[in-house]
Formats: sequence, structure tokens, C-alpha cells
Amino acid sequence: MIVAIDGPAGSGKSTVAHAIAKKCGFTYLDTGAMYRCVTLACLRRGVDVADEGAVTDVARSISIEFLPREGGQTVLLDGEDVTADIRTPEVDRAVSPVSAIAEVRSAMVELQREVAKKGDIVAEGRDIGTVVFPAAEVKVFLTADASARAHRRAVQRQGGDAATGNVVATDKASEEAILADIKRRDAYDSTRKEAPLRAAEDAHHIDSSNLGVDEVVAKVMELIDNAR
Ligand code: C5P
Repeated sequence: MIVAIDGPAGSGKSTVAHAIAKKCGFTYLDTGAMYRCVTLACLRRGVDVADEGAVTDVARSISIEFLPREGGQTVLLDGEDVTADIRTPEVDRAVSPVSAIAEVRSAMVELQREVAKKGDIVAEGRDIGTVVFPAAEVKVFLTADASARAHRRAVQRQGGDAATGNVVATDKASEEAILADIKRRDAYDSTRKEAPLRAAEDAHHIDSSNLGVDEVVAKVMELIDNAR
């Protein structure tokens, strides 16, 4: 079975997709992490992210691996652990132009489809239900209002965890900076020509602004049970 979870930045996709993968024994595929790896490799090699040909060469030359670990996964770029390095503000800033390049997308989509050949998966991203797996048995479009999304990201950055209820204080300035980044990225991702962020026609919409992780997970589990 393929479970597709799409939605804007900070809507809770990763937390929910990860919980579903654990409950169902499915492979968890974080496609955003893949575009982040391409971006990090470009920044490290001094490649201008506006140079489509050079960025495409990078996308085709790197290796990306995911190693499952308790509570998440380790991301390896050419064998090096980059789990934290792909989540910096520098990568946040550069990832949208990188992921808007058609050849970069086709290279990543090919890798994503390879993963699905091996068994059941829950994949999260922007175009999973529309482009990568249009025949996915379960499609969810997860949203939340922008300030709720910025708050969650700020909590995550400070080491908090919505899934475990580990609450931490966030400062207003960093939350505002995250909010600005999220809005900019959503606008870019939604208006690009290639595979823009949008819900598939047959996606189930869930607004998580006022829902806890467990409530969202329960809704998705119900969809999975109905599709079995
Ligand atoms: O999900 P995450 O916020 O880590 O994604 C980072 C960026 O990767 C997004 O802002 C978007 O530009 C890109 N992305 C994409 N298609 C996907 C997943 C992510 O274009 N399927």
C-alpha cells in the first residue's frame, strides 16, 4: 500500500507520517529531505542554485540514504550523516529554487518510485498524491494555519517534540523569522511550474491547526483501514 501525505511546510507531515509508518510497519519516505540533500550538496560545492545545469549534475551525482532509528531517521549524503545539516536556515532559503528544477525533480521522483517497489510506504512531500504516486491508495492533504505551523517549527528547532509532548519555550523573533520563511516557501512551492504544491482531487483534507498529533494519526489510520 502507498500512503501519500502532502501539505505545506510545518503542517505536521513528518510527525504524522512517521507515526503511521511505525504503527503499520511501512517504510517512511521523507521526500523533502531528498531535495534538502541536493541543496546542501550544492551549497557545499559552491554551486549557484540558479544554475539549473550545474544543480542537475549535483542531483544526479550524489547518493542519499535513510537509516531508520528510534524516533526518526538518519539521513546520509554520500555516506555522511547530514540529518541536522539539511535543516539549517541556509538550506531552508535555497531549497525551493533547487526543487523547482524539472530535471532535479525527475531524478528524485525516480528514486522515490524505486523505494515503493520494495514494499508498503508512507511518503510525505508536496507532489506525492499528484505526481509521484497518483494511484496511492490513501491520499492526505495536511494543512494548518501559518502561525500554528511556525510555532511547531520553532518548538522543533528548540528541541521540543509535538509527538512526545516535550514542550519548550520559543522566542518571538525566531518564530517570526520562521513564519516569514514558511510563507515565502509556500508561495514559491505553490506557484512553480513543475509539480506545484496542491492537493490531489481525491485527497482527504485534514486541518491540524486545532488537532493534536494523536487525533490526526487516528484520522489517517481510519482512512488506511477503509482502504485495506
Ligand atoms: O518538507 P520540507 O519542508 O522538508 O521540504 C523542503 C522543500 O523541498 C519544500 O519547501 C519544497 O520546495 C521541496 N519539496 C518538493 N517536493 C516534495 C517535497 C519537498 O518540492 N515532494
